[in-house]
Amino acid sequence: MIRFTKVRVPKENLLWGEGKGLKLALITLNTGRLTLPISSVAAGKRCLEISRRWSAERVQWGRPIGQHDAIAQKIGAMAANTFAMESVAELCGAMAERGGYDIRLEAAIAKLYNSEAGWRIIDDTLQIRGGRGYETADSLKARGEPAIPVERIMRDFRINLIFEGSSEIMHLFIAREAVDKHLQVAGDVVMPGKSLRQRLAGLGRSTLFYGWWYPSRWLGWGFWPRYAGFGSLARHVRFVERNARRLARGVFHSMIRFGPKLELRQAVLFRLVDVGAELFAMASTCARARWLLERDRSSGERAVRLADVFCRQARGRIRSKFAGLWRNEDVPTYKVAQEVLKGEHRWLERGMVELDG
Ligand SMILES: Cc1cc2nc3c(=O)[nH]c(=O)nc-3n(C[C@H](O)[C@H](O)[C@H](O)COP(=O)(O)OP(=O)(O)OC[C@H]3O[C@@H](n4cnc5c(N)ncnc54)[C@H](O)[C@@H]3O)c2cc1C
Repeated sequence: MIRFTKVRVPKENLLWGEGKGLKLALITLNTGRLTLPISSVAAGKRCLEISRRWSAERVQWGRPIGQHDAIAQKIGAMAANTFAMESVAELCGAMAERGGYDIRLEAAIAKLYNSEAGWRIIDDTLQIRGGRGYETADSLKARGEPAIPVERIMRDFRINLIFEGSSEIMHLFIAREAVDKHLQVAGDVVMPGKSLRQRLAGLGRSTLFYGWWYPSRWLGWGFWPRYAGFGSLARHVRFVERNARRLARGVFHSMIRFGPKLELRQAVLFRLVDVGAELFAMASTCARARWLLERDRSSGERAVRLADVFCRQARGRIRSKFAGLWRNEDVPTYKVAQEVLKGEHRWLERGMVELDG
């Protein structure tokens, strides 16, 4: 516990200026937040090494476990995701270093995406290491085994989904950016408590704006031969182009469907944000693979294979998020949660000694 009681800070130690502290802290967060995505990449790389070695060494049912499909699937996804995480972090880092970009959204997506992807990688690594993954490094060492600290990595990594903006808060922050423009344009039409005059003025503004904006979210060419320079990855870049427009429509349709209540439908908003984050990761991954290919053919081709697997898997996740926008179990789930909070399902907790009992 740290307390600041009667602490005096010399005037010359004041950063920027009086009253500007919060702004400074928030600006710093954009670049500070980028340390998390890149440290998540480090965790991914270490896990990949641990998993690669163990999956080749450990033999079960007559084969190294890495040749059993269940484990191979994890390792393939781990390599593809580590490459994607690195692409996301490198792209955001390059944008921050070059300057002149507003990277609030990119930094937030990188933080959210890499910390969650990193967590899944660590979970898979622990599973691949089996009982040894669950053991502490000290326990392994005491038994004469290599002290591989997967348990410690898991414990230490978990905070990344909580601090510098928890995953939930990151989702809300990104969602607000997505709906902000619509609220500026159409807020007076949909928000409660507006006068008739405000609504009519808002309607005029919205008609003008959406008369161009909405059709342009349908029109656009996201097919061959566009992006042909990406070679075998071009189809994924085209998918990103088409689905970025689909995402914009999804945000708009959700606003029409839920109106001001959209703010309360966090599960809906989170799906939209997840689609945006996946699209950003796909775009970063394809761009980096192309760049690597241009620099060195043989290592670039390896990168393209990783990018391809990542994009194939991301497309599946995106399709399921889009499907979940309109068909989901959000309402009954929310209702049950409220029943739980009221204590209506305490019967389910029976059979245990109560926490404070
Ligand atoms: C090891 C460690 C180091 C830290 N270092 C720092 C530091 O250096 N500087 C610093 O400023 N802070 C630091 N923190 C604090 C950290 O930033 C907070 O713990 C974090 O922001 C979450 O806040 P909270 O713990 O109060 O959780 P709460 O805000 O109480 O959240 C609890 C849960 O509710 C969710 N939630 C909250 N609000 C909403 C909402 N509106 N909608 C949906 N879900 C919501 C959260 O995502 C979370 O899952 C540190 C914390 C730890 C554990």
